[in-house]
Amino acid sequence: MTALPTTARVVIVGGGIAGCSTAYHLTRLGWRDVVLLERAKLTSGSTFHAAGLVGQLRANANITQLLKYSVELYEKLEQETGQATGWKRNGGLRLACNAERWTEVKRQATTARSFGLEMDLLTPREAGKLWPPMDISDVVGAAFLPTDGQANPSDIALALAKGARQGGARVIEDCPVTGVRVKDGRVVGVISAHGEIACEAIVNCAGQWAREFGRLAGVNVPLVSVQHQYMVTDAIEGVPRSLPTLRDPDRLIYFKEEVGGLVMGGYEPDPVPWAEDGIPEGFHFSLLDPDWDHFEELMEQALARVPALQNAGIKELINGPESFTPDGNFILGEAPEVRGYFVGAGFNAYGIAAGGGAGKALAEWIVAGEPPMDLWPVDIRRFGSPHGSIDWVRSRTMELYAKHYTMAWPHEEHESARPERVSPLYATLKARGACFGEKLGWERPNWFARDSQEPRDEYSYGRQNWFDAVGLEHTGVRERAGLFDQSSFAKFLMVGRDAVGALGWICANDIDRPPGTLVYTQMLNRRGGIECDLTVARLAQDAFYIVTGTGFATHDFSWIARSIPADLNATLVDVTSAYGVLSLMGPRARDILSAVTPDDVSNGAFPFATWRQIMIGGAPVRALRITYVGELGWELHVPSEHARAVYERIVEAGAGHGLVDAGYRAIESLRLEKGYRAWGSDIGPDNTPLEAGLGWAVKLRTNIPFQGREALSAQREAAQSKRLACFTVDDPQVVLLGRETIYRDARPVGWLTSAGWGYTVARNIGYGYVRNPEGVDDAFLDDGHYELEVATARVPCRIHRRALYDPAMKRVKE
Ligand SMILES: Cc1cc2nc3c(=O)[nH]c(=O)nc-3n(C[C@H](O)[C@H](O)[C@H](O)COP(=O)(O)OP(=O)(O)OC[C@H]3O[C@@H](n4cnc5c(N)ncnc54)[C@H](O)[C@@H]3O)c2cc1C
Repeated sequence: MTALPTTARVVIVGGGIAGCSTAYHLTRLGWRDVVLLERAKLTSGSTFHAAGLVGQLRANANITQLLKYSVELYEKLEQETGQATGWKRNGGLRLACNAERWTEVKRQATTARSFGLEMDLLTPREAGKLWPPMDISDVVGAAFLPTDGQANPSDIALALAKGARQGGARVIEDCPVTGVRVKDGRVVGVISAHGEIACEAIVNCAGQWAREFGRLAGVNVPLVSVQHQYMVTDAIEGVPRSLPTLRDPDRLIYFKEEVGGLVMGGYEPDPVPWAEDGIPEGFHFSLLDPDWDHFEELMEQALARVPALQNAGIKELINGPESFTPDGNFILGEAPEVRGYFVGAGFNAYGIAAGGGAGKALAEWIVAGEPPMDLWPVDIRRFGSPHGSIDWVRSRTMELYAKHYTMAWPHEEHESARPERVSPLYATLKARGACFGEKLGWERPNWFARDSQEPRDEYSYGRQNWFDAVGLEHTGVRERAGLFDQSSFAKFLMVGRDAVGALGWICANDIDRPPGTLVYTQMLNRRGGIECDLTVARLAQDAFYIVTGTGFATHDFSWIARSIPADLNATLVDVTSAYGVLSLMGPRARDILSAVTPDDVSNGAFPFATWRQIMIGGAPVRALRITYVGELGWELHVPSEHARAVYERIVEAGAGHGLVDAGYRAIESLRLEKGYRAWGSDIGPDNTPLEAGLGWAVKLRTNIPFQGREALSAQREAAQSKRLACFTVDDPQVVLLGRETIYRDARPVGWLTSAGWGYTVARNIGYGYVRNPEGVDDAFLDDGHYELEVATARVPCRIHRRALYDPAMKRVKE
């Protein structure tokens, strides 16, 4: 064994593809003091038994970029390191065998185009020519990604390890890491079977051991092991070496060529969890017993697709465990629990495809101390309290595994592990017809079924069954008033002598206003990108109440807490559970509110962007005058135990005013019309407030220093390479979902970041960034002729630089 050093800048735990790739990329960034410790031998975890398909397209642009980078890296890795990789760019084929799937595939082809990947649509005959062994009698169409490929997984990982060694990293095998030293919330070292290493950072790349290993330092890595099988055949006549990889989602199976034969695996609807009581000691270079009974269903599907399998010899059925996560995305980044503790794990059976790019992104994150770009779908801070429960995680993960190849319907909700977190109004709203969605474990009313309608989503690529019900809620809010249960909002208190100084530094808007005021603000990273988008209410000289989106609880808490300058006295506390939130919105909101409170809620006494403590019945309510739907309204933050009584009082008072219960789908439609941006889609770490049209909410005109100011000031002086704009499509037959390609003068310039139907303006609405390296200004936006590509078809659209709906004028702007 190579002697263990006593110190290192960074220690990577795990020698699978993720660990090797991270080590490789750290050395490419100039870090030499890198140590990789592997418990057994390199690749002995999941990596050695992967099938080796390397696909690239994901639902998110930046994650697709990571996978695209993997392909670029694998193409040159053998030449660079001298280690064979088995890389073959033979393309990837995806079949559609019914009309809905064909729509999905066409939408994927448009998404690919939006993200800069070539993806061609083929007729069944054309697909059959590319993949001669298959029966195409049930194929409706296919898509072909010419740059996809396949590789030998172990060889790729070993080539990365070799490249890392060549770059100065020390790779040490047979060295289990048994503990992590943490001091004052920071990693200071690792304990291994062969001694300790003091270090600044560790990277948990321990594959399916990552959860247990994380627990040693109090870090939650929500993943579980699931069995995954594929079969390997002898050579089959008519299988060329150039055969593309093939995904046949309607039959739940995939194929690749191997030594003139086929590898065939798939995703069963009833997956088998593994190692529920812990991974056995000594499980390396190990496989599980083949489970032919369980594989039979996939085998039948494969026989129908490739009749030649009937007579093919079967070499083996590989049954290997792999780590899967509750949302099907891998887990990357610095853990919110411990500084200097990074994670790269949970690869959901696409770790070979993701390994190159994930290792690069992780290495850049470690070196810079912040992610190189918006990696929200894989960011470890996307998890929350339910992910601490292994039962919850396993149950949701099994559902995701089973749905790997099923249709990914628009607006699809998960079914497992529910209900988990419910607002005090859950039972009441359920009785009133609420159809709930789920976010971070919270049950949230999406829409309300009326009359005899079932509160249940029926999915399709057309207008779904809730469309009219949401229309009634939307119109109710615009014309009268609506009541939304937004109790799942994350809520924090920032208190302390220096709270104003700390928040002043963290917020891009000026929050140093008198107690009683409310400020909408972004929080920026060093690049000027938007890390958080939230409201801050000043409670007192030294106390602020911060409200942010349900899904951002962990991320935003971590961002704010870690951004407090070390020498300032300010403490952040999560108070989410203390308050239910009822949002009363619409032109009649004041009439209704004044009927339930003795306090003065007139515009003079209670103007926009202020908050007041009011009484509703016996409940002390923190009322915030703000809106996300573009109407007069209040967010009522009610102590949880009073929430139900307050709800009932408002409903009673609202009856004469036409008050409606309304849900999150109505909010989405209302906010699209009013042009409010959504973090995670329209805005995020890659977009600055200037690009997003939010410059008005930034204190650049003051002299107050704030995080991200320098980048933003520089951007203000230079030409902006992208700008968010609004697009509308009049044709009601078109359904916009997001990711549709934006064409300006017949050239692709971006894609929609969010989209939906606006019931008041009676049009499809989408938002997206128009890009141009030479700069985008008002004239550039106005001068172009625009179209959107929707499921590969171009449709005419109009561009708008301002919100479509203005409540003050009560009319729709053209
Ligand atoms: C049957 C099957 C087919 C697959 N097919 C494909 C495919 O076609 N395409 C694709 O992209 N992906 C595929 N995958 C997925 C792919 O194999 C994995 O996603 C990938 O190998 C995960 O790599 P990793 O580095 O995260 O984990 P691993 O390869 O498991 O590496 C983790 C390493 O950490 C080590 N370790 C754990 N604990 C410690 C400790 N305390 N100290 C030191 N070392 C430790 C382990 O020994 C192990 O070597 C497949 C997986 C399976 C099971």
